[in-house]
Amino acid sequence: MTYDVAVIGAGIVGSAIARELAGSHLSVALVEARSDVGDGTSKANTALLHTGFDATPGTLESRLVARGYHLLGEYAEATGIPVERTGALLVAWTAEELAALPALRAKAEANGYDDCSDVDAEGVYALVPALGPGALGGLRVPGESIICTWTTNLALATDAKRRGADVLTGHRVGSVSSGTETTVMHTSGGDVEATWVVNAAGLGADHLDTWWGHRRFTVTPRRGELFVFDKLARDLVPLIVLPVPSSRGKGVLVSPTIYGNVMLGPTAQDLTDRADTGTSEAGFEFLWDKGRALLPRLLEEEVTASYAGLRAAIDRPDYLIDVDADRRYVLVGGIRSTGLTSGMAVAEHVVGLLTDAGLNCAPRPDLPPPPRMPNLGEAGLRPYQDGPRIAADPAYGTVVCFCERVTAGEIRDALASDLPPADLDGLRRRTRALNGRCQGFYCGASVAACLEQGELPSAVAGHG
Ligand SMILES: Cc1cc2nc3c(=O)[nH]c(=O)nc-3n(C[C@H](O)[C@H](O)[C@H](O)COP(=O)(O)OP(=O)(O)OC[C@H]3O[C@@H](n4cnc5c(N)ncnc54)[C@H](O)[C@@H]3O)c2cc1C
Repeated sequence: MTYDVAVIGAGIVGSAIARELAGSHLSVALVEARSDVGDGTSKANTALLHTGFDATPGTLESRLVARGYHLLGEYAEATGIPVERTGALLVAWTAEELAALPALRAKAEANGYDDCSDVDAEGVYALVPALGPGALGGLRVPGESIICTWTTNLALATDAKRRGADVLTGHRVGSVSSGTETTVMHTSGGDVEATWVVNAAGLGADHLDTWWGHRRFTVTPRRGELFVFDKLARDLVPLIVLPVPSSRGKGVLVSPTIYGNVMLGPTAQDLTDRADTGTSEAGFEFLWDKGRALLPRLLEEEVTASYAGLRAAIDRPDYLIDVDADRRYVLVGGIRSTGLTSGMAVAEHVVGLLTDAGLNCAPRPDLPPPPRMPNLGEAGLRPYQDGPRIAADPAYGTVVCFCERVTAGEIRDALASDLPPADLDGLRRRTRALNGRCQGFYCGASVAACLEQGELPSAVAGHG
């Protein structure tokens, strides 16, 4: 078939765009190189739902982050994506940083965010008693929140599928042939033909862009490494602790995670290899030094995991979203360090541009309700805690992953879901299994057996 629109890239941005378009009468394909959705940058970030208080006023990014904050917040309520409204505290450690706070507050207001408030040194320690010595003051940003990036990506892609989009994983686009009416994408999973193509390929967007004859930007993979500390550290960090941003970037933060851990990072290192998501000794040392100054007691706790994500930084100070109506092609590039928050607003923006270009994207009335996602958040009720649910279905009382308290029922549900996991990492993103202290040392074999058999092994399923 010839799709009306094909969206390349099933990260948060591409999935949000496919979902939005699939809400109209258009036929939509979401074309993804990897074997799962949400397996690129969207799975490895700091998972903050940003207010956009510190964006550059007047930019497209500033507008779409502010809009995305509200859209995703509402969507999270509708779908059950876990969010905790912890708020953030920006801490000034030097006289220079203290002097920069009023300008930051003014910037927030220029971005339409009026809720910041000044905090003196005493107030800073009242909010985060475990903070290292030397804080001079701070700025509260009550709207900054923590969110589950995995569930966000999965909800958007699931929604797109339920609205009728074809989710074509394992389809790496290697080249395109553009005709007068349609474009054929030659992919590792076969040809896909569409009238319009949206390029939401993240780190690969600049390469793909050249296939439509453009040479307008270069992606630099900017690696961010992070540490995840054990859940025992959680009480040390009641809210997101941010540094004062500088010309060198947003800096290293400490934040609670939605799974009940504490996160320290990210670094910011420009690389050439777009696949290098490994962590490094230099990154380790850098973060350790930062952690020691920020929150010395944190370093007494165990590190559960470390990971790295690659921001798709570009050689321009803003998002690069553009429609080439002649070639029926849309570029969605440079969604660097805010795309988790802005993704739904980017989708709304892209649909607006396509409508202006003559495509009928009017919403259809018969949309299915948004999917209700399994709760991975520590603040909400988890199945192992839910007595009536366990009584109705004992699989929710059978814990398979003990560190994260993931039950057989949740694994079974993930395997039977609209977009089942392709591998153990995909199962981890859907359930939290293997994500805890032991990193799969104890439960790895049982969880792997579930995945291999496509169902729960009888030893697990029958154990109530
Ligand atoms: C360290 C770090 C911290 C961050 N923190 C935050 C945060 O706290 N809050 C926030 O809002 N944002 C944050 N971000 C940014 C956010 O994660 C990204 O902006 C967002 O995930 C980008 O989504 P995407 O869909 O554009 O890209 P991706 O998730 O990378 O998706 C692109 C997809 O395109 C696919 N693809 C590429 N080439 C092809 C091809 N040829 N054929 C088919 N498919 C292809 C890829 O496989 C990939 O799945 C952070 C990023 C990093 C790295």
